[in-house]
Amino acid sequence: MFKNAIQIGKLWGIPLRLHYSFLIILPFLAWAFGNNIRALAELAGIPLTSLGANPYFLGFLMAIALFTSVALHELSHSLVARKKGVHIHSINLMLFGGVAQMDEIPEDPKDEAMIAFAGPILSLVLGGILIGGATLFRGVIVADMQLMFLYLGWMNLFLAVFNLIPAFPTDGGRVLRAILAGRMPFLQATKIAATIGKGFAFAFGILGLLTANFILVFIAFFIYIGASQEYQTLFIKNTLEGFRVSDLMTEDVKVVDEETVVSELVDRMFVERHSGYPVTRNGEVIGLVTMGDVRRVEPEMQSQTRVREIMSSNIIKADPNEDIYLALRRMSQEDVGRLMVMKGGQLVGIITRSDIMKGFRLREMQSGT
Ligand SMILES: [Zn+2]
Repeated sequence: MFKNAIQIGKLWGIPLRLHYSFLIILPFLAWAFGNNIRALAELAGIPLTSLGANPYFLGFLMAIALFTSVALHELSHSLVARKKGVHIHSINLMLFGGVAQMDEIPEDPKDEAMIAFAGPILSLVLGGILIGGATLFRGVIVADMQLMFLYLGWMNLFLAVFNLIPAFPTDGGRVLRAILAGRMPFLQATKIAATIGKGFAFAFGILGLLTANFILVFIAFFIYIGASQEYQTLFIKNTLEGFRVSDLMTEDVKVVDEETVVSELVDRMFVERHSGYPVTRNGEVIGLVTMGDVRRVEPEMQSQTRVREIMSSNIIKADPNEDIYLALRRMSQEDVGRLMVMKGGQLVGIITRSDIMKGFRLREMQSGT
């Protein structure tokens, strides 16, 4: 999901990453702020003539400061999460705000509520300080700076209030789920919170369309997708609970030697009905070759190309004792269809998405749903 991002640094050891969509929105925001400087100054009671800087430069600074505020909000979530023992993968800034990527959801609903509250509280405090400072030092600091502080302060307050709306997966929605989870199974609590979140998304979407506020329509869209995805992920995780990689993997692994020509491999794929093979050199696994790799070879070149020339040498592994859900998550993080199951450096099996799907269907049949 966050492959298209660049890491710009680390805060307290947590990687901070910019999604490409962020780089698109930044100049747009700078331009929009710059265009509205006159209106903003009027609203703040600051005479336009007292502003010295170029409005677009000021707009650019505001856009940067807005995303810094979002990053601090996410950092606040992350630091509290880490205190509760949750590993934070990274903080990602993208088109509309940011996301702190947690590796798992904290088990204790109270912890989740505290992590969820940490962001809005920081935004609230930051907003208060900025507005208080701008008001207190009116006339002392240059008007440009005063306008910026004031406006940023308001944006931080907005960030806090908006995130507290219980439209799961917003922070407020997470707090709501935590409250519900205190009284019922976690999955059921998530289902209710997600349904409420989707309700808000519909309301925001309609309001956005009626008022031609397309940013609100976008936000509605993201809330809807987010709510559906989180519930679905949890549902899959719950259904697969208890399965280990060794329960669902294919043990009789067919391998292909690196020197095999591609045309021969294609024949084997047809006969054996496999779409991916571990590649070996002297019996040791050195890579993986899939149908996708084969397709990139021109048909007339297939008899002259060796497997080692087209294979991918990035071997993504799984442990036979690993929880199946963790293996599935790694598949999506790495964007691959199969993992090689290794035990003590030895290939003992291969696990594919369809193996996991079979396990999923089996469980569904067992529970009669
Ligand atoms: Zn938040």
